[in-house]
Amino acid sequence: MTRPTIRMCARCQRITEVPVLVYVVHAATGPGFNVYACPDCAPLYPPLPDALDILDAAQQPHSTDERPES
Ligand SMILES: [Zn+2]
Repeated sequence: MTRPTIRMCARCQRITEVPVLVYVVHAATGPGFNVYACPDCAPLYPPLPDALDILDAAQQPHSTDERPES
């Protein structure tokens, strides 16, 4: 059976079994991490800063995962 996913709400600090992904942090190197909120807080969460990245990516289709050559 599927185990419940337990996450702490990033806004009210409560533990929720039904976390809502509200924020994705992208690291320049290595994996990023996700921030979750409870269903009560998710609608109240500020707009994702990632939205800027999405818009930027839409304007520059080739800029999504480019990394400077080293
Ligand atoms: Zn909450």
